[in-house]
Amino acid sequence: MGPASTPQTVVIRGGRVVDPSQKLDEVTDITLRDGRIASIGPAHSAGDATVDAAGLIVCPGLIDIHVHLREPGGEAAETIESGTRAAAAGGFTAVACMPNTQPPIADVDTIRFVLDKAARVGSCRVHPVAAMTVGRQGRTPVDMAAFMAAGAVAFSDDGAGLDADKVARAVFEQAAACGALLMQHCEVAALAGDGCVNAGPVADALGLPGIDPAAEEQMIARDLDLLRRFPARYHVSHISTAGAVEQVRRAKAAGLPVTAEVTIHHLTLTQEAVLRLGPNAKMKPPLRTAADVEACRQGLVDGTIDCIATDHAPHSFEAKARGLKEAPFGIIGLESAWPLANKVLVESRRCELTRLIDLMSCTPARILGRVSQGTLAPGSEADVSLIDPGHSWVFDGTSIQSGSTNSPFLGLDFIGRSMLTFVGGGCAFRHADMVSRLSGLS
Ligand SMILES: [Zn+2]
Repeated sequence: MGPASTPQTVVIRGGRVVDPSQKLDEVTDITLRDGRIASIGPAHSAGDATVDAAGLIVCPGLIDIHVHLREPGGEAAETIESGTRAAAAGGFTAVACMPNTQPPIADVDTIRFVLDKAARVGSCRVHPVAAMTVGRQGRTPVDMAAFMAAGAVAFSDDGAGLDADKVARAVFEQAAACGALLMQHCEVAALAGDGCVNAGPVADALGLPGIDPAAEEQMIARDLDLLRRFPARYHVSHISTAGAVEQVRRAKAAGLPVTAEVTIHHLTLTQEAVLRLGPNAKMKPPLRTAADVEACRQGLVDGTIDCIATDHAPHSFEAKARGLKEAPFGIIGLESAWPLANKVLVESRRCELTRLIDLMSCTPARILGRVSQGTLAPGSEADVSLIDPGHSWVFDGTSIQSGSTNSPFLGLDFIGRSMLTFVGGGCAFRHADMVSRLSGLS
């Protein structure tokens, strides 16, 4: 990593260590040494640095499988430096970044650029997702094996779905042959058209073109059909409709190698938010109905949906100020993810804390094939998040580390906050309130 300094040995004392990958939930110590998890259990020596973690959750670093870092080309909204700083502040130790940059992450040089930049200035690990098609143009499959060798963890033309059936067939065939992970932004362009909110009463009231759920569901249906013939690893990005959740449920029941993510905003907001919040509630896929939100929550609870992502999508104030029809899609999410997810799932008693950590760390690591992340097992990377479950705070512009502030959650009171983040054993983020709990951390 870039700025983090790495003491040889760090002892994190007396926290509630929660690691679903080891079915662990107990108050104990954890020792990091030389960038790896050394041990879990009472630590008898002091270490070069010590953290008093009493009252804090100590868990495997959160991993966000769907982030836009905007670099190269969109540095006015976010950079690899600012985006990973936001990630570390939100408790994330790794992010997968989407290829719809300018130029797109659609060649070996750009994959290397992202990895090199992240290594130099990043506050967390960055796993590049490369385009599925040359130039992200949707016409010709890329050379997946070459891109994977350069460091791409998955393939997506995110921002758009892969429309052309013949190209999609070739992409699935190649992915199945080389073991690539496909992440599809499921949206049939001809059905979505120039829609900017969910089709229905809100779109009608505002006189705006709508995006029908069928735009998402038809692409999933086509892809699942391809998956039966070409068993690639297939991941549905930002699932948003009740019908799509049911499609994935049935595909899993039929044994297909499919996974899915849902965003925080599709778990917490309905289409009506557009009326209140305007462009900061404009995303793709659009915010849907209460029934869709409930289906997504249920999908997480019953295991149909595998993980939670942010789809962190920074946009400048000026871009979002253009009004609902013209403003770009998406919101930032890295720094508000934990308290929102915790509220909607754990505080509401839909699931246990350990399941939430599984959804935000262990499973994303597994989907990305990063076996030494998303776990506190001894020998794995010392990527650790410390979260204060009782910290109450206001999510406002003053603390935001992202290069942009386009969030519908600004001004909300949150409970629960990431306080200290270790990446590879180095301190990547510390909240000011932690100073008295630290010794030996430079
Ligand atoms: Zn997308």
